[in-house]
Amino acid sequence: MKNVLVCVAWPYANSSLHLGQIAGACLPADIFARYHRLRGNRVLMVSGSDEHGTPITVSAEKENKKPEEIVERYHKEHAESLARLGISFDLYFRTSHPNHKKVAQDFFLKLLEKGYIEERASQALFCGTCNRFLPDRYVEGTCPHCGATDARGDQCDRCGKTLDPADLKNPRCRLCGKPPAFRETRLHYLKLSQFSEKLLDYLKSRKNWRPNVLKFTQNWIKEGLNDRPITRDLNWGIPVPLKGYEGKCLYVWFEAVIGYLSTSQEWARQKGTPDAWKDFWQDPKTESYYFIGKDNIPFHTIIWPAMLLGHEALNLSTNVPANEFLLLSGEKFSKSRGVGVRLKECLDEFDPDQIRYYLASVMPETSDANFTWAEFIQKNNEEFLSTIGNLINRVLVFSQKTYQAVPKPGDLSQQDIEIEAATVRHGRALAEALERCEFKKGLKEIVALAQTGNQYFNNQAPWKLAKENPQRAETVIYTALKLCRSLAIYMAPYVPTTSEKTWAMLGYSGGITAGLWGENLPELPAGQKLGPVAALVKKIEREEAAA
Ligand SMILES: [Zn+2]
Ligand SMILES: [Zn+2]
Repeated sequence: MKNVLVCVAWPYANSSLHLGQIAGACLPADIFARYHRLRGNRVLMVSGSDEHGTPITVSAEKENKKPEEIVERYHKEHAESLARLGISFDLYFRTSHPNHKKVAQDFFLKLLEKGYIEERASQALFCGTCNRFLPDRYVEGTCPHCGATDARGDQCDRCGKTLDPADLKNPRCRLCGKPPAFRETRLHYLKLSQFSEKLLDYLKSRKNWRPNVLKFTQNWIKEGLNDRPITRDLNWGIPVPLKGYEGKCLYVWFEAVIGYLSTSQEWARQKGTPDAWKDFWQDPKTESYYFIGKDNIPFHTIIWPAMLLGHEALNLSTNVPANEFLLLSGEKFSKSRGVGVRLKECLDEFDPDQIRYYLASVMPETSDANFTWAEFIQKNNEEFLSTIGNLINRVLVFSQKTYQAVPKPGDLSQQDIEIEAATVRHGRALAEALERCEFKKGLKEIVALAQTGNQYFNNQAPWKLAKENPQRAETVIYTALKLCRSLAIYMAPYVPTTSEKTWAMLGYSGGITAGLWGENLPELPAGQKLGPVAALVKKIEREEAAA
C-alpha cells in the first residue's frame, strides 16, 4: 500500500465546463484515482475552483456582474457537474475560501523570508483612458514568440508560452482598445533564475514523463529562467500580506497552485485529523501526480516545483501527465472563444458513463484529438454497448433465466483455461497502462477482453449445451460469469456506474470497494444468488450529421 496524491488542474469559475477540460484533466485523474483505490492504495484527490485573477474580473465586467456573483454561480455549477459525472474528488475546494487565503499568504511570506521573493521597481502597462493598470488579461497584443495577434497579457493561446503583459508587441487595452503606456509600480518577483540547476536535477530524477512535457520543460529552462512578478495591481484576489501594499494581490497563478496544498490541509481539517495531509506532502514515499492540460505545463513543471523547492518541506511531483488538446472540428475547445461542448448539457442528454467512455477512448494523451458526435455515437453503440454491455447482459440474462444463481463448474476445458489466462493477461496489461497514465491503451485491453468473451460465448453456445450437456453448460456459464466479474473490476475506474450495476447483477453485496483488485480477484462462489438483470448501456438513437 502506498499514498498517492492526485492533483487536478483548477478550472476558472468564470464559465461552464466543457468536455475539453474533462478529457484533458478531470477524467484521466479520476480514472487514475479510482484505479489506485481499487488496488488498495491510499488516495487523496484534490482540486477546486480558481476564483481569482483577471479571467474572473474580465468575465464579470462582460456580464455586468460582481466577481463574487460570477464565482458563486460557476463554482456551484462546476462542483455539481463534476459530481454528476462521477469525478471522485476527496475535496473540491475554492480559492476564495479564507483557509486557502491563509495558506497562500503564509507560503508567500515563507519564500519572502528565505529570500526567494523580492520587491522590485517594475514597469507595468497603464491605460490613461481607463485610468488603471492592465494586468494579464486586461491587455492584448502580438505574441513576441509566434506572432499571434490575439495573445493575452498572461499567455499566448497559439504557442502556449507564458507571457508578461510587458512582453506583448503592439499592446492594446482590452477595455477601450487604446494603446497603454508604461508606468512605474512596485511588484514582488519570484527569483526563478535561482532554481535552474535544481529544476534540471529534479527533472533528471523523474521517470516515465511524457516526452512532450519533458521537452517543453527542458527547453524553457535552457532558454533561461527569468524572475517573474508574482503580484499585480488588482483588487480581486488574495491581498499581498504586507503593510503598505493595498490594491495589490498575489498573481492568480502563484496562489492557485498553492490550492493543491491548502485543499489537502482543508480535507484533513474537515475529517477531524488535521495532520493527515502530511502523509501526502511530506512522506518521501508518497507519489504525487498533477493532471493538467498542456497550456498549464510551465506552471506545474517549473513555477510550482520552484516554489516547492524554495519552501523545502514539501514533496515534488512524481509525474505531470499533461494532456494535449481535445479539438472540436479541428478547433481548440475554448471558453473564452465559445468553442466547445458543455459538460452540463451533455449530462442532461447522456449517462455519465457514456460520456466517460467516449472521452477515455479519444483522450488526447500524446497528440491533439478530435471530438466528433458521429464517433461519440459509434463508440457508444458499437463498442461500449455492443461489445461490453451486451456480453455482460447476454451472460447474465441466460444465467438468471436458467440457474438464478452461480452454477458449479465441472472440469475445465482448454477453452475455459484460455479464458482465465486471457483475463489475467489483459488485467495485467491494463494495470501497467494505468500505472503509466496511458488511459486510452488501458481501455483497449478492456475491449479486447470483452471481445474474447463474446467469441467464447458464441462458440460454446451454452443455450444448446443446456439441453445436450447440462454439466458442460454450467462450466461454460461459470467461466463466462467469472469473466464478467473481472470486467466489472477492470472497467470500474472508467465507467464506475456500469461496473457497480454489473457487480450487483453478479450477486455481490457491498459494491465495488477499495482494495477489491488485489493479487487475486474476489472469488465467485458457486451458489451465489444472482441479482436482477437490467440493460447496462443505452443505445444512442440521436441522428447526428458528422460534426
Ligand atoms: Zn505565441
Ligand atoms: Zn483602456
